Amino acid sequence: MTSPTRITHLIGHRSWEGVSERHGEVFNPATGEVTGQVDFASAELVGEIVESAAAAGAEWGRASLAARVQVLFRFRSLLEANKQRIAELITAEHGKVVSDALGEVTRGLEVVEFACGIPHLLKGGFSENVSTSVDTYSIMQPLGVVGVISPFNFPAMVPMWFVPIAIACGNAVVIKPSEKDPSVVNAVAELWQEAGLPDGVMNVVHGDKEAVDALLTHPLVKAISFVGSTPIAQYVYEVGAKHGKRVQALGGAKNHMLVLPDADLDLAADAAVNAGFGSAGERCMAISVVVAVDSIADELVARIRTRMGQLTTGDGRTGCDMGPIVTAAARDRIVGYVQAGLDAGAELVVDGRIEWHDGAAEGGGEGTFTGVEEGFFVGPTMFDRVTPDMSIYTDEIFGPVLSVVRVASYDEGLALINASRYGNGTAIFTNDGGAARRFQNEVEVGMVGINVPIPVPMAYFSFGGWKASLFGDSHAHGIEGVHFYTRTKAVTARWLDPSHGGLNLGFPQNK
Ligand code: NAD
Repeated sequence: MTSPTRITHLIGHRSWEGVSERHGEVFNPATGEVTGQVDFASAELVGEIVESAAAAGAEWGRASLAARVQVLFRFRSLLEANKQRIAELITAEHGKVVSDALGEVTRGLEVVEFACGIPHLLKGGFSENVSTSVDTYSIMQPLGVVGVISPFNFPAMVPMWFVPIAIACGNAVVIKPSEKDPSVVNAVAELWQEAGLPDGVMNVVHGDKEAVDALLTHPLVKAISFVGSTPIAQYVYEVGAKHGKRVQALGGAKNHMLVLPDADLDLAADAAVNAGFGSAGERCMAISVVVAVDSIADELVARIRTRMGQLTTGDGRTGCDMGPIVTAAARDRIVGYVQAGLDAGAELVVDGRIEWHDGAAEGGGEGTFTGVEEGFFVGPTMFDRVTPDMSIYTDEIFGPVLSVVRVASYDEGLALINASRYGNGTAIFTNDGGAARRFQNEVEVGMVGINVPIPVPMAYFSFGGWKASLFGDSHAHGIEGVHFYTRTKAVTARWLDPSHGGLNLGFPQNK
């Protein structure tokens, strides 16, 4: 066994050289081995980093758009060239399979490409002659230092929803990645350095609540972009707003997929399995509830079950379909929910709970487990006849556990989805365009798929949910991201004509 790698803060382009009083352990979830030790920053250190970022940001905010765009284009090429390496780093600490990790880097790259168009996005507006000899125009200026706090489940993509746009808009960034898989953000920060981003514009601080609280309360931090679970998102929103910051805090989810009787059931079953068990269900856009109209429910459950039997679970580096769960604690929490579902009377159609004995998996439902002896694994699991009062329905499990709720009609399915406290993503499967159109209008959810189970918008649209899935007004990336990282100034200018009149104490009016 090799000794754990030290992972530390990046102040500008330099690794922090101090000695940390507190640390976290980083695991390879496929083996259970401790592979890293991440430094946890004190509030004092966060303050120093914010101050150095503020100084660098002031200069970067004055850099020409042409200069900023050159850095972004170079960064884009470097990320493209390094995406396999970054993906393998994701798999090593998160556990997801490498092909899925590559997918997340690619989705992050799309945001970088969107940010490359920043000169067009920052054009503002101009109205000539709003009053005689008076013109009004708006300019979009950077905020200064912005804080980004990211979750474990997309260690490359979620930071990329924010950082490229914040930097393109002329801000400096201090990012605090998840302490569970912290290395990826450091690796990406090195690419920013290689791309020629001036020292101090991009900073990485590692840590836990102490570092987060320091960002939320520091007066030089002007905006916070947060992604994580709902209780922490709400906390971040409330504390950040109380300290005068602009906050967007994206929270948890419980995404429903409504299957109507006229749907293509093979398409729906494929979608439920892909969206339910991809990344072991550790996605905020994962489908965790299939809402099946009674007349097709038996057939749909049977088809999903058949597909679950074809899945292989194992070390994400070995070409299987599903990797491990991020930590032992997260695995135990998922297993606890499976027991709670059984206790509440739901029908456990596929039980993914496993135990390893002499290198062989015991239990684990109907899929196959390959090439692992230890690690934090749960196989694909499905409950049928789940009811809305059960904790497996109400709570975000964040694991490979699919619940099937049976309903009598479209209206009952819609009412169920709209009663959920979350509103991140949802999908409808149907061949009736009118029903789909009604659903997109009536459903109270931020991102809607029609025969598409994971409707993650492209970078030039914005990403975000409703209700307890988002605190704040701005969704991530797209034009909302540009607005979030800039403040608008309206300038009203008069260039006097030699024939101008004399004194006028009245309120300015359009004459
Ligand atoms: P988490 O809430 O545990 O952690 C998110 C971040 O907050 C981490 O950086 C963590 O260090 C920090 N944090 C944790 N506890 C804190 C505390 N008490 N005070 C201050 N900061 C704290 O979330 P996670 O487990 O890393 O990620 C999974 C969650 O993120 C799920 O709920 C998932 O739905 C959600 N998520 C949402 C979206 C979205 O777009 N809505 C996207 C990805 C993930």
